[in-house]
Parts: sequence; structure tokens; C-alpha cells
Amino acid sequence: MSGSKTASSDLKRWKDKCFAQAEELEQQEKSFEDHVDLLQRLLVRVSLAADGLNEDLDNELSSLRDQLRKGSPSKTELASRLGKVETAVLALDEQKSERTEKLLDALESLVEQLLELELERKQKKQLKQLSREIKGKKNGLRDYPNLLMQYAHLQEGALKHQFDMMGQDNKSGILQRFFGSKHAPNSDLAGDSETLSSQTSEDTNVSLPDSDATNLDIAPDSVEGEFMPGFSAISGHVSSALSNLITQLSIPPTAEPTAEKIQSTISGGLNWYELGPTIDDVANLVISAVGKGQKDFELFLQNLDVRLAKLQEYLAESQAQQLDWRGSSSDLDRQVRDQVNSISQEVLEANDIDHLKVSVTSHIETIIASMDDFVATEDTRIEEMNKQMEAMQNRLVTMETEAGEIRARLKVERAKALTDVLTSLANREAYEERFLMEFERWKRYRQPAAIVVADIDLFKRVNDDYGHLAGDKVIQIIAKELSNRIRKTDFVARYGGEEFVIIMPETTLEDAIPVMEKTREMISRLPFHFRDERVQITMSFGIAPFQDKYTSDGIFELADKALYKAKENGRNRVEISEPNKDA
Ligand code: GH3
Ligand code: MG
Ligand code: MG
Repeated sequence: MSGSKTASSDLKRWKDKCFAQAEELEQQEKSFEDHVDLLQRLLVRVSLAADGLNEDLDNELSSLRDQLRKGSPSKTELASRLGKVETAVLALDEQKSERTEKLLDALESLVEQLLELELERKQKKQLKQLSREIKGKKNGLRDYPNLLMQYAHLQEGALKHQFDMMGQDNKSGILQRFFGSKHAPNSDLAGDSETLSSQTSEDTNVSLPDSDATNLDIAPDSVEGEFMPGFSAISGHVSSALSNLITQLSIPPTAEPTAEKIQSTISGGLNWYELGPTIDDVANLVISAVGKGQKDFELFLQNLDVRLAKLQEYLAESQAQQLDWRGSSSDLDRQVRDQVNSISQEVLEANDIDHLKVSVTSHIETIIASMDDFVATEDTRIEEMNKQMEAMQNRLVTMETEAGEIRARLKVERAKALTDVLTSLANREAYEERFLMEFERWKRYRQPAAIVVADIDLFKRVNDDYGHLAGDKVIQIIAKELSNRIRKTDFVARYGGEEFVIIMPETTLEDAIPVMEKTREMISRLPFHFRDERVQITMSFGIAPFQDKYTSDGIFELADKALYKAKENGRNRVEISEPNKDA
């Protein structure tokens, strides 16, 4: 009995544990999926913010977004995609720094060119200052529009100075004034050409203005025609430098017509009056080219800021909800938090947009790598949990089977323990149990009930005359007869030896007597034959009704006394107990 109780409480414990584990697993899986989903959305949006910088990068990011939108890409897919994004970002960066360098070189050569002119001390100083500034800006394009504006301003001043000088000293050749030398301007120019780009070599051969030109009025209308050859000597250098500069710019589509227009103006040959406005146009073009990037980047940063705030919020939330998440999840939280903090800090302190962009990209990649690690760790953890679950389920099944077997065995054992081997009737133990139960029931419901004790008459003789086996056979046949005679609700047991006991619930003494009389008679008529001899076997019965003032044992005793009376009165009889007398 207690064995089966332990088995079933074990079973319940295992079941509860299993359910609890399954529930926990489900919750963790859901939260983990949310986590991955949010990070994927973050990745999509951040990649959108980085759009428009470079065609290769755009293509890679677009494929990445497609992959993410279609569902969770596998770790290998993600890793290969990120590898390509990284290559594109690095190439973009390299391309940008090359372009920056070329743009700055072009500007520097423009400044150098102006410095060749005869200028005021202040102008020279400012130009040298600008040249130093350009040299010091090798790393970024951010100040480029400003530098170009400065240059345009200084150039305007410098050229104006040339005119002023021409006005004061119209005896000097215009070219000599331009190049600060009164002699052999040709050789001066040849010297200059070495510092200028090779495209200018043709221009260096243009015929020099004759000295008469210096005598002309300096009114702009006439200056243009007459001074043109002089200016054209440097116009080639300036044009090629400007044209070079435009080709280095990554021009936004909206500014492309302007760029083409400027290029065609430049290629048509710049005259003196066109020079200033063209430089202004180029400056504006640079501003729009660099400005677009800057605007994009501002947008990128704004978006990034919003996403990062969301990520922070999400992490805080997930930590609050998942306090019981240990190990890998808190590692991920910490790693992502660190990266996000670094990004926020760098955004706040950022001076150099290019550097910032690279660094933000690298932080995001670190976040993605952490995510990958997390996913891998979680996969292992979930796999481990699944294994545990499976093991527990197997254990449960085994235990259920075992418990079932034990129950069945117990049932068999119990039945064996309560059954008489010879007759297959209930044995004395079974009777005791049943009698107590019926007695309790009788006490509660007060329905009449009776007990009968029956004993085979002179059985010793059967054994003595025909042997023990014959005796056993008699006991078996009588047992069968008794159980056939009684009702389903009645209960018969072999009490011991050749003695039997019958419990008759819901039966009055009056009803019990005829049933027992009939039984007695049937037994006396059983056709026993031993050694071809008909032998009559009879049985005596004592009946006692359940009654007050007696214990269960007391009532049995009453029936036993009635049986004794039946024996005394000649056997093969049914006697009832007489409480007053028999007590
Ligand atoms: P009475 O009419 O007074 O009951 O006489 P009786 O001979 O039946 O009574 P007694 O108690 O003197 O003898 C009972 C005999 O039953 C004694 C015993 O050997 C025999 N007996 C008891 N159990 C078994 C059994 O399982 N098998 C066989 N063959 N004999 C048994
Ligand atoms: Mg007997
Ligand atoms: Mg007996």
C-alpha cells in the first residue's frame, strides 16, 4: 500500500516539475524571440540610416534588410552578409580619404598659384596661413567649404590688387605685374609651369601681350579683350584645378546639372570675369556635395539616437522582466549596454564625422557579434533544456509504466493474500476485513444483516476413511456450492479447515434462515462417491443477526455458538443464536 502511495506522489512531483520547466522554457523562448526581433528591427533601421553613401554598401544593406524582413536569417547567412557590409564600409572609407586628400591637394595648388602673384604683404600672409590650414586638414572634408570660401575671398582680393597695381603703374606689362617680374616673363612662366599641372604646358606657349597693351585704358570693357591673353596664361591652371576638383566631388543628383554647367563653362576657357563667379559656383557645389553627406549623417545620427534610446529602454524592460535569466542573457545585456553607452558617448563628443561613422558601425557590429554569441549560447541552452525535458519525459514514462506494473503486481499480491489457495474463496484475512467494513456500515445505516458460521459434519472421518486428498476435494466442492448458493451482495470465506463463514448484508434473520436451510439441504444431496461408494456429506449452520450491545467479535461468537448448538442437536441443522441465552 505505502509503496504505491510513494510511487504516485513521485509521479506527481515529476509531472509538476515537468510542467513548471515547460512553462519556464516557453516564457524564455518567447522573450528570446522578442529580443532577436527587436535587434533585427534595429539592424534594419540602422542600415536604412546608412543608406545612400555608396552603391556597393547600399546593395549589401538592401540585401541584408531583405534577409531580415523575410525572417530570422541563419547565423552563417548573417555572418557572410556582415562580412560583405564590412568590406564595403572599409572600401568607402578608403575611397573617401583618398578623395579628401585629392581635393585638399587641388585647393593647395590653387593657393600656391595665387602666392606666385605680386601681392600685398597681408594677402600673402593670409594665403600662407590658408595653405597651412589646408595642410593641417588632411583628415576630413568638413572644413572644405569654409577653406574654399576663404580661398575665393583671398583670390578676389589678390586679383583686385593686380588690377589696382595695373592702374597705378600702367607702364608695366600686365603679365609682368601678374607674375611679379619685370623681365623675361616667359622664363618666369616656364618656371611656374613646373609647379603646375602638365595640362597647362600648352597655355605656357601663348603669345605674350606686347608692351603697348599696358598703355590701354583699364576700363573693364577694354581690359577684358586686351588682358585676356595675359589671364589665359593662368586660366588654364585655374581651370584644370577647378575641373579636377569637381571630378573629385561626389555630387548629389540634384546638383549634377549645375556641375555639368560649371564644367562646360570651365572647358570653354575661363575669362577674367568668369573666374570669380565660377569659383563661387564651385564653392557652392562643394558645399552641396559635402553638405549632403553631412545632412545624411545628421539624419543617420538622429535615427541612431532614437534607435539606441529604444534599445536601452528595451534592455531595461527585458532585465526587469527576466530577472531570473542568468548567464548568457545578462552577458548580452551588459555587452550591448556597453556598446550603446560607447556610441552615445562618442556621438556626444564627436568632432570628426568620418571617424564617428566608422566607430558607430564598428559598435553596431560588436552588438551584432554579441547577439550571435547570445543566439549560439541560447541555442545550446535550449538544446540542453530540451534534452533534460526529454530525459524527464522518458523518466516519467518509465515511472508510469513501473507504477502501473507495481499496481498490477500489488493487486495480484493483495488478491493472493486474501484468497484461499485450496478453494479460491476469500480467506480468513479477507473475511476479517470485510466483516469489519460491513459491521461499520450496519452501525451507520442500521439495515439488518446476518452472519453464518458453517462447519462440515464429522469431517475427520472423511479424512480417516478416504484420505486427505478426498477431504480436500470435499472442501473444494462444498466451497463451490456455498458460493453458488449465496447472492452477489453476500460474502463467503473459508474461515479455516472445514469451516466457512457467510456475511449477508441487508438480510433479516427471517430471510437468512430459509436460504441457509436450502443450502444445507443442497449440500446434503451432493452426490459424493468414494471408492464407488455413495457418501453423504452434511453441514451444520449457526446464524446470528447483527445486533446492538455486541462487538463484531461478539456477533461472530453468537453465530459460532449457534453452530455448536446445531452440532449438539444432531448436525445437518441450521440454528439461530439466542442472544439472551447465548450471550
Ligand atoms: P464435527 O462434526 O464435530 O465438526 O466433527 P469433525 O470431525 O468435522 O470435527 P473435527 O474438528 O474433530 O475434525 C476436523 C478435521 O478436519 C480435522 C482435520 O484434520 C480436518 N481438516 C482440517 N483442515 C483440513 C484440510 O484442509 N484438508 C483436509 N483433508 N482435512 C482437513
Ligand atoms: Mg467439522
Ligand atoms: Mg471444525
